[in-house]
Amino acid sequence: MLITVVTIFPEMFPGPLSHSLIGKGIGRIWNLKIVDIRNFAEDKRNTVDDTPYGGGPGMVMKPDVVHEAMNHALSFYKNKPEIVFMTPRGGVFSNKMAKDFSKNHEGMIILCGRYEGVDQRVIDYWKKKYEMKEVSIGDYVLFGGEIPAMVVVDTCLRFSSGIMNNIESTVEESFSIDLLEYPQYTKPMTWNGYDVPSVLLSGNHGKIASWKLEQSKQVTRDVRPDLWARFKNNRE
Ligand code: SAM
Repeated sequence: MLITVVTIFPEMFPGPLSHSLIGKGIGRIWNLKIVDIRNFAEDKRNTVDDTPYGGGPGMVMKPDVVHEAMNHALSFYKNKPEIVFMTPRGGVFSNKMAKDFSKNHEGMIILCGRYEGVDQRVIDYWKKKYEMKEVSIGDYVLFGGEIPAMVVVDTCLRFSSGIMNNIESTVEESFSIDLLEYPQYTKPMTWNGYDVPSVLLSGNHGKIASWKLEQSKQVTRDVRPDLWARFKNNRE
């Protein structure tokens, strides 16, 4: 699986993606290529942005330069990869999206915006011609799309076979069935006056499973009423 990040800050990569299980998978399970958008600028100053039509603050990334960088990224693939533009104006990223993206064994191209964003025409073109998806990592605004791109790559790779030793972890963890995960404990049995819940020491797998489900329901009800409502709806 090839993941290509299109950015004006190539030096930010692989960054955190070179660590832990994901890092160990580079070159074995997945590969990373970076396309520096500045290489596609046409002037001596490598200009990638300009002032917005209609006025307003900040600068906008130029459509011609971004388009050429994206075309270069696409030339790395035989078949169509997932193509994603990181933007606060996109649909909110989720485990479900990550699972869907990871099914495309060709891989992904991720476009990272900067400044006030990217000229709408290049977004419209790539959406229409290549089904590019606009994806947000949440209802807040970062300076650039590079950290959001890392979030997407990290999450998608959790669903790629070969990265996680224990793929079951992704089945039981938070959001897998619209519930947050139950609390986890390890040794020692007593720490600082706090005990591990006795049911977890009982060896009774049925009881342990019901305890975990109850805990998941309780925490979801308490902290994520939106998720709780979805869980209840799906069950009904
Ligand atoms: N003017 C834009 C708006 O109000 O929607 C925000 C631009 S932001 C400063 C610059 C770039 O950071 C965006 O083009 C996008 O690539 C990235 N970015 C910022 N917040 C993001 C988020 N929540 N999810 C995904 N990408 C984000």
